[in-house]
Amino acid sequence: MIPRRRPLVLMYHGVGDRGARSDPFHLFVAQDRLRRQLTTLLDHGWTPLPLDAYLSGDTPPRSVLLTFDDGYRAIVDEGLPLLHELGVPATVFVLTGLIGDRSRWMLSMPDEPLVSAEDIREMVRAGLDVECHGWDHSTLVAADERTLQHNVTEAARALAALTGRRPRAFAYPYGEHDEKARRAVAEAGFEVAFSTHTAAGPYAVPRVDVNSTDTDATFRLKTVRGYRMLRRGAGQVPGLRPALHSVLGRAPRS
Ligand SMILES: [Zn+2]
Repeated sequence: MIPRRRPLVLMYHGVGDRGARSDPFHLFVAQDRLRRQLTTLLDHGWTPLPLDAYLSGDTPPRSVLLTFDDGYRAIVDEGLPLLHELGVPATVFVLTGLIGDRSRWMLSMPDEPLVSAEDIREMVRAGLDVECHGWDHSTLVAADERTLQHNVTEAARALAALTGRRPRAFAYPYGEHDEKARRAVAEAGFEVAFSTHTAAGPYAVPRVDVNSTDTDATFRLKTVRGYRMLRRGAGQVPGLRPALHSVLGRAPRS
């Protein structure tokens, strides 16, 4: 069931301090910055949700689902201790075909380590929800039946074997989806699927991207309800993010 009040869904990737050269897509948020962001949410009365509570549809106002895509190993080293310390639940989307491997799908950032089977079990033991991001980060847009089967149904089955429970949430690689992909995810038994920008019911719930270019000001702005509406309205305008940063500044990178 999709929540009636539509909690804020934040999309992170890695946790850690990376220079612009090793992280050209700004995917890694440094631990101290993540700490400030989570503390800001808690101080302002936000309730971080476990996936179960999100899916129940019965969520308090100012609810937030924290999601981390790709399953970088750094989430265990640097994310897990912080989440544990602050008592904040989170959902991590991993690639079942790249367990213990590296971020090989990104030509300009191919060597970032990904979680192992033991890392996944550790995250589950720590109370995180480990969910499905596909098999090997192949796009599901215009995918043939075999690709969909592999990246959705088989990926879910392999993940269930690792975690001991069937995954309930899917995050599309690159945030991209089409009608066939959404149907494949629904038919595989997932209850929700997350995109990045485009919305299409419970099988394409958009998320707000948080990355290393965010300052305290841009992060706070991204939690404001109006931001999501503005972003939806300006979905076709590629200049929105640069424009926001030109007004509010951009976090310095080493
Ligand atoms: Zn991804």
